[in-house]
Amino acid sequence: MEIKKEIRLKESIKGQTANYKNFPMVPRVIYGRGSFDQLGALLMPIRKNADAPCIFLVDDIFEGTPLADRIPLIFNDQVIFISAEEEPKTVQVDVLVANIKNGFTELPSAIIGIGGGTLLDLSKAVSIMLTNIGSASEYQGWDLVQQAAVYHLGIPTISGTGAEVSRTAVLLGPDKKLGINSDHTVFDQVLLDPELTKGVSKEQWFYTGMDCFIHCIESLEGTYLNAFSQTYGEKALDLCKEVFLGNLSPLESREKLMMASWHGGMSIAYSQVGVAHALSYGLSYLLGVKHGIGNCLVFEHLQEFYPEGVMLFNKMKQRHGIELPQGICADLTEDDFDIMIKVALGMGPLWENALGKEWRKTITPQKLRSIYQKI
Ligand code: NAD
Ligand code: ZN
Repeated sequence: MEIKKEIRLKESIKGQTANYKNFPMVPRVIYGRGSFDQLGALLMPIRKNADAPCIFLVDDIFEGTPLADRIPLIFNDQVIFISAEEEPKTVQVDVLVANIKNGFTELPSAIIGIGGGTLLDLSKAVSIMLTNIGSASEYQGWDLVQQAAVYHLGIPTISGTGAEVSRTAVLLGPDKKLGINSDHTVFDQVLLDPELTKGVSKEQWFYTGMDCFIHCIESLEGTYLNAFSQTYGEKALDLCKEVFLGNLSPLESREKLMMASWHGGMSIAYSQVGVAHALSYGLSYLLGVKHGIGNCLVFEHLQEFYPEGVMLFNKMKQRHGIELPQGICADLTEDDFDIMIKVALGMGPLWENALGKEWRKTITPQKLRSIYQKI
């Protein structure tokens, strides 16, 4: 009897441990106003030699600004300014990697991404593809990366996506929008300086901030929720409420949204996002709608899934006088709707998190079409 019990126990432990993710976290973080000025010192021990440069991938919004002048360049370091107008693409990663390999005799000592989710994801992907053969599109998926990436350091300049903590680099590929999800994707170092998010427009602040808010709602309302995700999600949600509905000073607001982004990212790392993200992926794939605004466009129509979240969202929208564009899907063809629905339905884990294992019983193509038609 005792032996049988022990075997059962062992089996159940074995069964359980096999399902738990062993999630990698960012090993080093610097946080604080003006911490950007420590970047030079941070990179010094990482530098391999004078021929192995630090490559800075920087949002081109900063070209010609004082921030660009503060980038600590030595030896043959290079700054590459990149537009964040469009979401990052696998071909863009391939071109950047080829140029870096052709331009230098040695692999870079470090890739440093400075910008929003777009630049952070590009930097993660470039650092991976410098050491892995083929095209970035071959690594879109889960745990396909074989070789450790070049050291990469992320510096967010807008808060909300959680890309600074996540193990994914979301890319638009030739046939899908999907992340390079791997342990090698995670930044080796992150620098959080709330001063850097100063220049963000109100609309963009709201869209990217709402990405964080929606991460919290989808994680906290999901079936994958556990104490790990809940603690981070609840903290991030409280911070979002303070930022978007409270009366904080601009500095406090920037500081707290930066931390909300971090905690929101940590929350979904160990659970999953949900309905808004699944539908937003469809919009983004077909129409190139960017992640933050795409989530907002979808979320306001998700009352039946997230009643309290949508109520709060509307309050925040009103408080900040945000007018979302209307009629985005008004002129779409049958084929267009089918493409978006296919992309959204392909996000199985997101639906399962939102609605449980039986999600297919309620989430039909007709159902998704009726939501898209409202956007
Ligand atoms: P973004 O990087 O796309 O930038 C949005 C806009 O803000 C751009 O015009 C940019 O130039 C501008 N901007 C950035 N910093 C600024 C500043 N300090 N001052 C003025 N303007 C500034 O924004 P985002 O919303 O952070 O990122 C969206 C991207 O992140 C999408 O590609 C999405 O797929 C990705 N994403 C990734 C993850 C992840 O875990 N890897 C999670 C969510 C979203
Ligand atoms: Zn998101």
